[in-house]
Amino acid sequence: MASISIRHLYKRYGKDRQTVVNDFHLDIKDKEFLVFVGPSGCGKSTTLRMIAGLEEITEGQVYIGDRLVNDLPPKDRDIAMVFQNYALYPNMSVYENIAFGLRLRKQPRHEIDLAVRRAARVLEIESYLNRKPKELSGGQRQRVALGRAIVRNPSVFLMDEPLSNLDAKLRVQMRMELIKLHKTLGATFIYVTHDQIEAMTMADRIVVMKDGVIQQIDTPEAVYTSPSNTFVASFIGSPGINFIKGKITEDAGGNLLFETNRFSLPVPKEAANVLRRHNKTNRQVTLGIRPEHVGPEGLYSDCVFTAVYKVSELMGADRFLHLDIGQDRLLVARVDAYYRCENNESLRIVLDMSKALFFDADSGARLT
Ligand code: ADP
Ligand code: MG
Repeated sequence: MASISIRHLYKRYGKDRQTVVNDFHLDIKDKEFLVFVGPSGCGKSTTLRMIAGLEEITEGQVYIGDRLVNDLPPKDRDIAMVFQNYALYPNMSVYENIAFGLRLRKQPRHEIDLAVRRAARVLEIESYLNRKPKELSGGQRQRVALGRAIVRNPSVFLMDEPLSNLDAKLRVQMRMELIKLHKTLGATFIYVTHDQIEAMTMADRIVVMKDGVIQQIDTPEAVYTSPSNTFVASFIGSPGINFIKGKITEDAGGNLLFETNRFSLPVPKEAANVLRRHNKTNRQVTLGIRPEHVGPEGLYSDCVFTAVYKVSELMGADRFLHLDIGQDRLLVARVDAYYRCENNESLRIVLDMSKALFFDADSGARLT
Protein backbone atom coordinates (compact mmCIF):
# COMPACT_ATOMS: atom_id res chain seq x y z
CA MET A 1 0.00 0.00 0.00
CA ALA A 2 1.35 3.44 -0.86
CA SER A 3 -0.88 6.23 0.12
CA ILE A 4 1.16 9.33 0.91
CA SER A 5 0.43 11.79 3.63
CA ILE A 6 2.10 15.18 3.59
CA ARG A 7 1.64 17.13 6.82
CA HIS A 8 2.21 20.90 6.88
CA LEU A 9 5.42 20.73 4.87
CA TYR A 10 7.74 23.77 4.70
CA LYS A 11 11.00 24.48 2.92
CA ARG A 12 13.06 27.55 3.76
CA TYR A 13 16.32 28.43 2.05
CA GLY A 14 19.31 30.59 2.78
CA LYS A 15 20.24 33.13 5.39
CA ASP A 16 16.97 35.04 5.04
CA ARG A 17 15.01 31.78 5.38
CA GLN A 18 12.95 32.48 2.29
CA THR A 19 9.93 30.17 2.31
CA VAL A 20 9.65 28.37 -1.03
CA VAL A 21 7.22 25.66 0.11
CA ASN A 22 4.61 27.00 2.48
CA ASP A 23 2.34 24.71 4.51
CA PHE A 24 1.97 22.03 1.83
CA HIS A 25 -0.67 19.70 3.24
CA LEU A 26 -2.19 16.84 1.28
CA ASP A 27 -3.30 13.20 1.36
CA ILE A 28 -2.54 11.18 -1.75
CA LYS A 29 -4.50 7.99 -2.27
CA ASP A 30 -2.95 4.63 -3.05
CA LYS A 31 -2.64 4.23 -6.86
CA GLU A 32 -3.60 7.83 -7.49
CA PHE A 33 -2.11 9.82 -10.39
CA LEU A 34 -1.47 13.19 -8.81
CA VAL A 35 0.01 16.14 -10.71
CA PHE A 36 1.68 19.23 -9.21
CA VAL A 37 1.30 22.10 -11.65
CA GLY A 38 2.27 25.75 -11.51
CA PRO A 39 4.60 28.31 -13.03
CA SER A 40 8.36 27.88 -12.91
CA GLY A 41 9.78 28.54 -9.43
CA CYS A 42 6.56 27.86 -7.50
CA GLY A 43 8.11 25.03 -5.48
CA LYS A 44 6.98 21.89 -7.33
CA SER A 45 10.41 20.27 -7.59
CA THR A 46 11.36 21.20 -4.04
CA THR A 47 8.19 19.55 -2.73
CA LEU A 48 8.78 16.43 -4.82
CA ARG A 49 12.42 16.26 -3.71
CA MET A 50 11.40 16.46 -0.06
CA ILE A 51 9.03 13.52 -0.63
CA ALA A 52 11.87 11.67 -2.36
CA GLY A 53 14.36 12.40 0.42
CA LEU A 54 16.69 14.38 -1.85
CA GLU A 55 16.00 17.62 -0.04
CA GLU A 56 15.91 18.17 3.69
CA ILE A 57 12.51 18.95 5.17
CA THR A 58 12.52 22.25 7.08
CA GLU A 59 9.27 21.56 8.88
CA GLY A 60 6.41 19.06 8.60
CA GLN A 61 6.09 15.32 8.01
CA VAL A 62 5.96 12.98 5.04
CA TYR A 63 4.38 9.55 5.45
CA ILE A 64 4.59 6.88 2.75
CA GLY A 65 2.09 4.19 3.61
CA ASP A 66 1.99 4.55 7.38
CA ARG A 67 5.75 5.06 7.74
CA LEU A 68 7.14 8.43 8.69
CA VAL A 69 9.98 8.83 6.16
CA ASN A 70 11.46 12.21 7.15
CA ASP A 71 14.71 10.60 8.27
CA LEU A 72 14.84 7.70 5.80
CA PRO A 73 17.36 7.87 2.93
CA PRO A 74 15.79 7.84 -0.57
CA LYS A 75 16.71 4.21 -1.21
CA ASP A 76 14.61 3.06 1.74
CA ARG A 77 11.47 4.96 0.79
CA ASP A 78 10.12 2.47 -1.77
CA ILE A 79 10.09 5.15 -4.48
CA ALA A 80 11.64 5.65 -7.90
CA MET A 81 12.26 8.98 -9.59
CA VAL A 82 12.31 10.01 -13.23
CA PHE A 83 13.71 13.43 -14.16
CA GLN A 84 13.70 15.65 -17.19
CA ASN A 85 17.41 14.98 -17.64
CA TYR A 86 17.47 11.23 -17.63
CA ALA A 87 21.27 10.86 -17.91
CA LEU A 88 21.77 7.35 -19.28
CA TYR A 89 25.21 5.75 -19.20
CA PRO A 90 26.43 6.28 -22.77
CA ASN A 91 28.77 3.28 -22.85
CA MET A 92 26.20 0.81 -21.57
CA SER A 93 23.54 -0.93 -23.63
CA VAL A 94 19.88 -0.25 -22.97
CA TYR A 95 19.74 -3.56 -21.14
CA GLU A 96 22.66 -2.65 -18.86
CA ASN A 97 21.27 0.82 -18.24
CA ILE A 98 18.02 -0.68 -17.02
CA ALA A 99 19.76 -3.41 -15.03
CA PHE A 100 22.33 -1.11 -13.41
CA GLY A 101 20.45 -0.23 -10.22
CA LEU A 102 19.56 -3.86 -9.58
CA ARG A 103 23.17 -4.94 -10.07
CA LEU A 104 24.25 -2.39 -7.47
CA ARG A 105 21.84 -4.05 -5.09
CA LYS A 106 23.42 -7.38 -5.90
CA GLN A 107 20.19 -8.99 -6.97
CA PRO A 108 20.53 -12.49 -8.46
CA ARG A 109 21.24 -12.50 -12.20
CA HIS A 110 18.09 -14.35 -13.28
CA GLU A 111 15.90 -11.99 -11.23
CA ILE A 112 17.52 -8.98 -12.88
CA ASP A 113 16.98 -10.53 -16.29
CA LEU A 114 13.30 -11.16 -15.58
CA ALA A 115 12.79 -7.61 -14.32
CA VAL A 116 14.56 -5.98 -17.27
CA ARG A 117 12.61 -8.04 -19.82
CA ARG A 118 9.31 -7.36 -18.09
CA ALA A 119 9.96 -3.61 -18.05
CA ALA A 120 11.11 -3.70 -21.68
CA ARG A 121 7.90 -5.49 -22.65
CA VAL A 122 5.72 -2.94 -20.82
CA LEU A 123 7.57 -0.05 -22.49
CA GLU A 124 7.82 -1.79 -25.89
CA ILE A 125 11.58 -1.42 -26.10
CA GLU A 126 12.42 -5.14 -26.27
CA SER A 127 13.81 -4.88 -29.79
CA TYR A 128 16.58 -2.45 -28.88
CA LEU A 129 17.87 -3.77 -25.60
CA ASN A 130 21.32 -4.19 -27.16
CA ARG A 131 21.60 -0.64 -28.52
CA LYS A 132 23.57 2.19 -26.95
CA PRO A 133 21.67 5.34 -25.86
CA LYS A 134 23.11 7.38 -28.74
CA GLU A 135 21.40 5.00 -31.17
CA LEU A 136 17.98 5.89 -29.76
CA SER A 137 15.52 8.73 -30.33
CA GLY A 138 14.61 11.10 -27.49
CA GLY A 139 11.37 9.25 -26.83
CA GLN A 140 13.12 5.89 -26.75
CA ARG A 141 15.70 7.23 -24.31
CA GLN A 142 12.99 8.55 -22.05
CA ARG A 143 11.46 5.08 -22.10
CA VAL A 144 14.76 3.58 -20.99
CA ALA A 145 14.81 6.06 -18.10
CA LEU A 146 11.30 4.90 -17.19
CA GLY A 147 12.54 1.31 -17.47
CA ARG A 148 15.20 1.99 -14.85
CA ALA A 149 12.46 3.18 -12.50
CA ILE A 150 10.06 0.33 -13.28
CA VAL A 151 12.52 -2.53 -12.58
CA ARG A 152 12.83 -1.38 -9.02
CA ASN A 153 9.13 -2.16 -8.63
CA PRO A 154 8.47 0.77 -6.29
CA SER A 155 5.06 1.55 -4.90
CA VAL A 156 5.55 5.26 -5.67
CA PHE A 157 6.81 6.91 -8.85
CA LEU A 158 7.97 10.52 -8.60
CA MET A 159 8.36 12.25 -11.96
CA ASP A 160 9.75 15.74 -12.46
CA GLU A 161 8.92 17.15 -15.92
CA PRO A 162 9.97 13.89 -17.57
CA LEU A 163 8.61 14.86 -20.99
CA SER A 164 9.94 18.41 -21.22
CA ASN A 165 12.84 17.48 -23.49
CA LEU A 166 10.64 15.79 -26.08
CA ASP A 167 9.14 17.43 -29.13
CA ALA A 168 5.45 18.27 -29.12
CA LYS A 169 4.21 15.20 -30.98
CA LEU A 170 6.23 12.77 -28.92
CA ARG A 171 5.05 14.44 -25.75
CA VAL A 172 1.44 13.73 -26.66
CA GLN A 173 2.30 10.11 -27.37
CA MET A 174 4.29 9.68 -24.15
CA ARG A 175 1.45 11.24 -22.17
CA MET A 176 -0.80 8.42 -23.29
CA GLU A 177 1.91 5.85 -22.57
CA LEU A 178 2.31 7.16 -19.03
CA ILE A 179 -1.43 6.91 -18.44
CA LYS A 180 -1.33 3.29 -19.63
CA LEU A 181 1.78 2.61 -17.57
CA HIS A 182 0.10 3.96 -14.46
CA LYS A 183 -2.83 1.56 -14.98
CA THR A 184 -0.54 -1.39 -15.68
CA LEU A 185 1.77 -0.88 -12.73
CA GLY A 186 -0.86 -0.11 -10.13
CA ALA A 187 1.51 2.31 -8.36
CA THR A 188 1.01 5.79 -6.95
CA PHE A 189 2.29 8.51 -9.32
CA ILE A 190 3.27 12.05 -8.43
CA TYR A 191 4.03 13.98 -11.56
CA VAL A 192 5.43 17.52 -11.69
CA THR A 193 4.90 19.81 -14.67
CA HIS A 194 4.55 23.50 -15.57
CA ASP A 195 2.32 22.43 -18.48
CA GLN A 196 -1.36 22.67 -17.65
CA ILE A 197 -2.27 20.43 -20.61
CA GLU A 198 -0.17 17.60 -19.18
CA ALA A 199 -1.87 18.11 -15.84
CA MET A 200 -5.36 18.17 -17.37
CA THR A 201 -4.83 15.08 -19.55
CA MET A 202 -3.09 12.80 -17.08
CA ALA A 203 -4.13 13.59 -13.53
CA ASP A 204 -6.73 11.98 -11.31
CA ARG A 205 -6.26 15.11 -9.22
CA ILE A 206 -4.31 18.29 -9.81
CA VAL A 207 -2.50 20.37 -7.20
CA VAL A 208 -2.17 23.93 -8.50
CA MET A 209 0.68 25.83 -6.83
CA LYS A 210 1.83 29.45 -6.78
CA ASP A 211 4.70 30.96 -4.78
CA GLY A 212 5.04 27.82 -2.68
CA VAL A 213 1.37 27.80 -1.68
CA ILE A 214 -1.29 25.31 -2.79
CA GLN A 215 -4.05 27.19 -4.59
CA GLN A 216 -6.40 24.29 -5.26
CA ILE A 217 -6.52 20.48 -5.09
CA ASP A 218 -9.17 19.04 -7.37
CA THR A 219 -10.02 16.89 -10.36
CA PRO A 220 -9.12 18.32 -13.79
CA GLU A 221 -12.82 19.01 -14.43
CA ALA A 222 -13.20 20.91 -11.17
CA VAL A 223 -10.11 23.11 -11.54
CA TYR A 224 -11.39 24.06 -14.99
CA THR A 225 -15.03 24.71 -14.20
CA SER A 226 -14.73 25.78 -10.56
CA PRO A 227 -11.31 27.41 -10.09
CA SER A 228 -10.77 28.64 -6.53
CA ASN A 229 -9.39 32.01 -7.64
CA THR A 230 -8.36 34.11 -10.65
CA PHE A 231 -4.86 32.61 -10.63
CA VAL A 232 -6.13 29.04 -11.08
CA ALA A 233 -8.75 30.22 -13.57
CA SER A 234 -6.12 31.84 -15.75
CA PHE A 235 -3.44 29.17 -15.34
CA ILE A 236 -5.70 26.31 -16.43
CA GLY A 237 -7.12 26.40 -19.97
CA SER A 238 -5.77 27.62 -23.29
CA PRO A 239 -6.53 30.17 -24.60
CA GLY A 240 -7.01 31.56 -21.13
CA ILE A 241 -10.21 32.56 -19.43
CA ASN A 242 -11.38 36.16 -20.11
CA PHE A 243 -11.55 38.57 -17.19
CA ILE A 244 -13.74 41.66 -17.30
CA LYS A 245 -13.82 44.18 -14.48
CA GLY A 246 -17.18 45.69 -13.71
CA LYS A 247 -19.69 46.67 -11.08
CA ILE A 248 -22.70 44.82 -9.71
CA THR A 249 -25.80 47.01 -9.83
CA GLU A 250 -29.49 46.46 -9.13
CA ASP A 251 -32.25 47.43 -11.57
CA ALA A 252 -35.71 48.70 -10.67
CA GLY A 253 -37.07 45.16 -10.68
CA GLY A 254 -34.49 44.05 -8.10
CA ASN A 255 -32.41 42.06 -10.61
CA LEU A 256 -28.64 42.22 -10.44
CA LEU A 257 -26.64 43.42 -13.44
CA PHE A 258 -22.96 43.23 -14.27
CA GLU A 259 -22.07 46.65 -15.61
CA THR A 260 -19.09 48.14 -17.43
CA ASN A 261 -18.96 51.48 -19.22
CA ARG A 262 -19.72 49.61 -22.47
CA PHE A 263 -22.47 47.20 -21.54
CA SER A 264 -24.61 45.76 -18.82
CA LEU A 265 -25.51 42.09 -18.58
CA PRO A 266 -28.06 40.29 -16.39
CA VAL A 267 -26.62 38.15 -13.58
CA PRO A 268 -28.35 34.75 -13.33
CA LYS A 269 -30.42 34.15 -10.18
CA GLU A 270 -28.12 31.70 -8.43
CA ALA A 271 -25.03 33.86 -8.91
CA ALA A 272 -27.04 36.92 -7.88
CA ASN A 273 -27.94 35.28 -4.57
CA VAL A 274 -24.32 34.53 -3.83
CA LEU A 275 -23.22 38.06 -4.80
CA ARG A 276 -25.88 39.49 -2.50
CA ARG A 277 -24.64 37.30 0.32
CA HIS A 278 -21.17 38.78 -0.23
CA ASN A 279 -22.63 42.31 -0.22
CA LYS A 280 -21.38 42.96 -3.74
CA THR A 281 -24.25 45.19 -4.87
CA ASN A 282 -22.73 48.50 -6.05
CA ARG A 283 -19.25 47.01 -5.68
CA GLN A 284 -16.53 46.09 -8.18
CA VAL A 285 -16.11 42.42 -9.13
CA THR A 286 -14.17 40.50 -11.77
CA LEU A 287 -16.19 38.41 -14.19
CA GLY A 288 -14.48 35.36 -15.67
CA ILE A 289 -15.75 33.74 -18.84
CA ARG A 290 -14.08 31.03 -20.94
CA PRO A 291 -13.70 31.59 -24.71
CA GLU A 292 -16.12 28.75 -25.50
CA HIS A 293 -18.85 30.67 -23.67
CA VAL A 294 -18.40 33.79 -25.79
CA GLY A 295 -19.70 33.85 -29.35
CA PRO A 296 -21.46 35.73 -32.10
CA GLU A 297 -25.10 36.60 -31.50
CA GLY A 298 -27.38 33.68 -32.20
CA LEU A 299 -25.40 31.07 -30.31
CA TYR A 300 -27.04 31.97 -27.03
CA SER A 301 -30.19 33.90 -26.36
CA ASP A 302 -29.33 36.56 -23.80
CA CYS A 303 -26.58 38.98 -22.92
CA VAL A 304 -25.70 40.67 -26.20
CA PHE A 305 -23.28 43.58 -26.59
CA THR A 306 -21.04 45.08 -29.28
CA ALA A 307 -17.32 44.41 -29.68
CA VAL A 308 -14.82 45.20 -32.41
CA TYR A 309 -13.13 42.36 -34.24
CA LYS A 310 -9.31 42.63 -34.26
CA VAL A 311 -7.57 39.38 -35.20
CA SER A 312 -8.29 35.68 -35.27
CA GLU A 313 -6.30 32.49 -34.84
CA LEU A 314 -7.29 29.42 -36.82
CA MET A 315 -6.78 26.24 -34.79
CA GLY A 316 -8.15 23.69 -37.27
CA ALA A 317 -11.64 22.89 -36.04
CA ASP A 318 -11.97 26.17 -34.12
CA ARG A 319 -11.13 29.79 -34.56
CA PHE A 320 -10.30 32.19 -31.74
CA LEU A 321 -11.58 35.71 -32.30
CA HIS A 322 -9.87 38.56 -30.46
CA LEU A 323 -12.42 41.27 -29.77
CA ASP A 324 -11.93 44.77 -28.45
CA ILE A 325 -14.40 45.51 -25.64
CA GLY A 326 -12.86 48.75 -24.37
CA GLN A 327 -11.03 48.95 -21.03
CA ASP A 328 -7.90 48.21 -23.15
CA ARG A 329 -9.10 44.64 -23.08
CA LEU A 330 -9.39 41.98 -25.69
CA LEU A 331 -12.01 39.30 -25.22
CA VAL A 332 -11.32 35.92 -26.81
CA ALA A 333 -14.23 34.02 -28.34
CA ARG A 334 -14.05 30.46 -29.58
CA VAL A 335 -16.11 29.96 -32.75
CA ASP A 336 -16.27 27.52 -35.68
CA ALA A 337 -13.35 27.64 -38.08
CA TYR A 338 -15.56 28.77 -40.98
CA TYR A 339 -16.67 31.91 -39.17
CA ARG A 340 -15.53 35.01 -41.09
CA CYS A 341 -15.54 38.73 -40.32
CA GLU A 342 -13.93 41.94 -41.54
CA ASN A 343 -11.13 43.83 -39.84
CA ASN A 344 -12.49 46.28 -37.27
CA GLU A 345 -16.02 45.05 -37.92
CA SER A 346 -18.43 45.66 -35.05
CA LEU A 347 -19.90 42.34 -33.96
CA ARG A 348 -22.88 41.57 -31.80
CA ILE A 349 -21.39 39.33 -29.13
CA VAL A 350 -23.11 37.09 -26.60
CA LEU A 351 -21.84 35.84 -23.25
CA ASP A 352 -23.37 32.69 -21.81
CA MET A 353 -23.94 34.28 -18.42
CA SER A 354 -24.98 30.94 -16.91
CA LYS A 355 -21.29 29.95 -17.28
CA ALA A 356 -19.84 33.22 -15.96
CA LEU A 357 -17.76 33.09 -12.77
CA PHE A 358 -17.51 36.03 -10.40
CA PHE A 359 -14.37 36.79 -8.43
CA ASP A 360 -13.56 39.22 -5.65
CA ALA A 361 -11.99 42.26 -7.36
CA ASP A 362 -9.25 42.55 -4.72
CA SER A 363 -8.36 39.07 -3.46
CA GLY A 364 -9.24 37.22 -6.67
CA ALA A 365 -11.14 34.54 -4.69
CA ARG A 366 -14.08 33.00 -6.53
CA LEU A 367 -17.45 34.16 -5.19
CA THR A 368 -19.88 32.14 -7.35
P1 ADP B 1 9.66 24.64 -9.64
O1 ADP B 1 10.08 23.22 -9.67
O2 ADP B 1 8.21 24.84 -9.33
O3 ADP B 1 10.05 25.39 -10.88
P2 ADP B 1 11.57 24.84 -7.47
O4 ADP B 1 10.99 23.94 -6.44
O5 ADP B 1 12.71 24.31 -8.27
O6 ADP B 1 10.43 25.38 -8.42
O7 ADP B 1 12.05 26.18 -6.77
C1 ADP B 1 11.24 26.89 -5.89
C2 ADP B 1 11.98 28.09 -5.38
O8 ADP B 1 13.04 27.70 -4.56
C3 ADP B 1 12.55 28.95 -6.49
O9 ADP B 1 12.34 30.29 -6.17
C4 ADP B 1 14.03 28.62 -6.44
O10 ADP B 1 14.80 29.71 -6.85
C5 ADP B 1 14.24 28.31 -4.98
N1 ADP B 1 15.33 27.34 -4.79
C6 ADP B 1 15.42 26.09 -5.28
N2 ADP B 1 16.52 25.46 -4.87
C7 ADP B 1 17.19 26.34 -4.08
C8 ADP B 1 18.42 26.30 -3.33
N3 ADP B 1 19.20 25.20 -3.31
N4 ADP B 1 18.75 27.40 -2.63
C9 ADP B 1 17.97 28.51 -2.60
N5 ADP B 1 16.82 28.59 -3.28
C10 ADP B 1 16.43 27.55 -4.01
MG1 MG C 1 11.08 22.18 -11.20
